[in-house]
Amino acid sequence: MLGLTPVLRKPIIYLMNTKVEAGKPLTTQPKITLAQLMKQFSDETACKTLLRDMRWPDGVKCPRCNRAEKVYELKSKPFHWACKNADCGGRNGYRFSVITKTIFENTNYPLSTWFEVIYLMTQSKKGIAALQIHRQIKSGDYRTAWYMCQRVRAAMKDEGLAKLLGQVEVDETFIGGKMKNKHWDKKPRGAKGTVGKIPVIGAIARKGNVVCQMIENADKPTMDGFVRKVVSEKVDLIATDEAHGYQDLGRVYPHQFVRHSTGEYVRGNVHTAHIDNFWSLLKRGIIGTYHQVSKKYLPLYLAEFQYRYNNRENPNIFFDVIAGC
Ligand SMILES: [Zn+2]
Repeated sequence: MLGLTPVLRKPIIYLMNTKVEAGKPLTTQPKITLAQLMKQFSDETACKTLLRDMRWPDGVKCPRCNRAEKVYELKSKPFHWACKNADCGGRNGYRFSVITKTIFENTNYPLSTWFEVIYLMTQSKKGIAALQIHRQIKSGDYRTAWYMCQRVRAAMKDEGLAKLLGQVEVDETFIGGKMKNKHWDKKPRGAKGTVGKIPVIGAIARKGNVVCQMIENADKPTMDGFVRKVVSEKVDLIATDEAHGYQDLGRVYPHQFVRHSTGEYVRGNVHTAHIDNFWSLLKRGIIGTYHQVSKKYLPLYLAEFQYRYNNRENPNIFFDVIAGC
């Protein structure tokens, strides 16, 4: 007879707090080193246990109907269950495993290799090239490593991010085009230099998160709409440059802008230094690591950089990505 699945608890054993000395800033040191990780998760049972506990901290739920009742563990097959809810698996049961409907499904690589890839991707500040991953995990085919990276990227989603508060900077930039042109980001907007480049808009809270996304056009409805979507109306300040797209923000927000066209980059606390830093991190990452990014994949790279930035002080980033897989 099939037994009921026991209630599972969070794997606190992996998530022990590291103390931060008074007066010292939080570090971005991960709670686990690569060597520790590879030792701890060298066998599939350990990996699957972690995955199960991260995925279902309150007990296993059916990935199809999302219910915990009438879900039975298959005694003969570890990490496999059957959902016998009448409108789901019914009498025969809908069978699923710990990797069903995750990024790890339908791959030939063991979970320990996936964990290594996730670790490398979460710990490299500027992003890590698929080629480097390929060498590290000794995958037979470069494309496999690339594919794994793309899947991990898809799991690096900042879902349910609160609207930005405090002092917020908004700016747009262009990604792509001729990579050999080192002065590309200095060219005026809308000039010929932006041909073939993809516009990206971003907002950053000076003491918080960044949100960025690819846009079709750098026009007023798009830019104004983006700000209303991601920035709280209770913000203290929105700082931008003088771009036309931001000129209506003052109707809703405390908006101030600097005039880059007249050489004004800072006026008191009105500047875009933080978002500029994020853009340069992103561009250096994309140029230096990925060489080329197409419009099709740019949203994934943006999500990756945004996620890493927003989790820059999160020592549990590795486990959080696992939970998002
Ligand atoms: Zn079900």
